[in-house]
Amino acid sequence: MPSLSILFSSSSSRLIFLSKTLAKRTIFSSLSAMSINLNAHAFAGNPIISKTPKLHDPLSPSSAFQSLKTQLLQTPENSSPLFKVLPFRKGRPLASSSITGDDDVPSWHLGWISLPDCKGFLGKCGVELSEDSLVYLGSKAEEDVVYWAVDVSEEGGLVPELGSKRFCFVELRTLMVATDWDDSSAMGELAIAGHARALLEWHSLSRFCGHCGEKTVPKEAGRRKQCSSELCKKRIYPRVDPVVIMLVIDRENDRALLSRQSRFVPRMWSCLAGFIEPGESLEEAVRRETYEETGIEVGEVVYHSSQPWPVGPSSIPCQLMVGFFAYAESLEINVDKEELEDAQWHSREDVRKALAVAEYKKAQRTTAAKVVQMCKGVEKGQSLSTDFNVESGELAPMFFPGPFAIAHHLISTWAYQDVPSDGVEADSKQPSSSTSNLQHSYSPKD
Ligand SMILES: [Zn+2]
Repeated sequence: MPSLSILFSSSSSRLIFLSKTLAKRTIFSSLSAMSINLNAHAFAGNPIISKTPKLHDPLSPSSAFQSLKTQLLQTPENSSPLFKVLPFRKGRPLASSSITGDDDVPSWHLGWISLPDCKGFLGKCGVELSEDSLVYLGSKAEEDVVYWAVDVSEEGGLVPELGSKRFCFVELRTLMVATDWDDSSAMGELAIAGHARALLEWHSLSRFCGHCGEKTVPKEAGRRKQCSSELCKKRIYPRVDPVVIMLVIDRENDRALLSRQSRFVPRMWSCLAGFIEPGESLEEAVRRETYEETGIEVGEVVYHSSQPWPVGPSSIPCQLMVGFFAYAESLEINVDKEELEDAQWHSREDVRKALAVAEYKKAQRTTAAKVVQMCKGVEKGQSLSTDFNVESGELAPMFFPGPFAIAHHLISTWAYQDVPSDGVEADSKQPSSSTSNLQHSYSPKD
């Protein structure tokens, strides 16, 4: 299926669709040492939800839920399908980690446990595992496996139990930074963990009906909920919170607008972003947010790509970051200090320099090594802010979020786009046909 990009025209509501063939263009061919060539953003490309089985398939949510009830009662040997369970504690998935291979590369894996083991571990804590506490995540038909998640936040006794098996509950953001983006299987595990976290968080926030206040009960193996009141029966679906994230571009002077929030680690700059208001289109949200935060008027808005973001604030279970290039029509910056610490125009050259010296791979490996230590029980503390630090030998004046974030791809795609040469305005006016997918390449420092 060809991936499509959508161009939003500023002057009308006309949508132009560009095929991927048109969009695919060598962007920065002079650099080839190492490229970031993602098929999907971090947290997208979940391998177990791409094909949800139909109703009567044994791996479908409803059939699997029936088998789950049976398996919880009797635990038959050689049960089919095989059930694997991923426990979460306070938003953190269970993980294991080790150093493997000839080049001592640390890598983490999700801590899947079998249904009988899960039942056994909880039983030791005096908790009976019920089918309603398990949430269907997806399946793999070729392996006859169904995957479930369970929230064990209340069961503190499980931590030493699982710790003795070299498992550890690790912050999802830490796993995100520790994931090697060149490793598609690791990226798949990260996407599964993100989906599971979003679902479990939504379950814990939707325990009561917003309509009548009665308790809600899980339905369809936890894929939705329903009010338990016979009179109400309101259906409740998992929540997704769309956020626009945009790189604002000054075409004339070949600059991009980058901003800092006060919660950012020092020297980190990123794109503007904001939640979409009810009754607003995506492109309207891009223009409103940019104007509110920086006073800059935006004209043309061009779609780039989108990314599920389950690592935002915990009361917002799953943001969907929708990425755009936004072309500025005015240039004077007037920062809203309530929202931002600073916002400045940066030349393409400065942005390229910052990308070239940032050591994203090193930061990824350092964090991956840290996860190994956590799972050995050596390092218990988990610091969030340092996870975003990109180590750099020469202390660059600025850096951007790593390749796990859509902001990185918006910034680097623009930075390595063809630079318009003098007098050739036409190419730069063409709204970024080269920027509408993730297949850009460039060479970050290893
Ligand atoms: Zn109700």
